[in-house]
Amino acid sequence: MKKELSLSNHNKSEKLINVYIYEVQFFDSNIINVIEKLRNKYRINVFACGLNQTFEGKPFPFKDKKDHICTLMALSDKVISLDAICNNCGKVATRTYRLGESKDTVVIGGINFYQARCNNCFLEKD
Ligand SMILES: [Zn+2]
Repeated sequence: MKKELSLSNHNKSEKLINVYIYEVQFFDSNIINVIEKLRNKYRINVFACGLNQTFEGKPFPFKDKKDHICTLMALSDKVISLDAICNNCGKVATRTYRLGESKDTVVIGGINFYQARCNNCFLEKD
């Protein structure tokens, strides 16, 4: 069922300029339609951040697995890729390495489950 985006709770005297979405990879793929509507119908700037790759180095699928984060990136005006410091060697890290045996795409956890890794250390998979 398709729901119409409603901004009815929005105070009409204030112009909504920006919407910020954190961890966008955890939404269903319909978030793409919502973002496009905010941008194109309501002329609202949308800033979305999230992971572009899974712990397996694949494009991150949305929760319903009907699309990937790369579609959202392709529709964006600007994509900024941030990096971290490799937990293994100290070089620039662009990958997320997960400790443990689970093959599930999403496992909630922090430093005890995930490490930033450079591509070389990511591929070594100690
Ligand atoms: Zn490294």
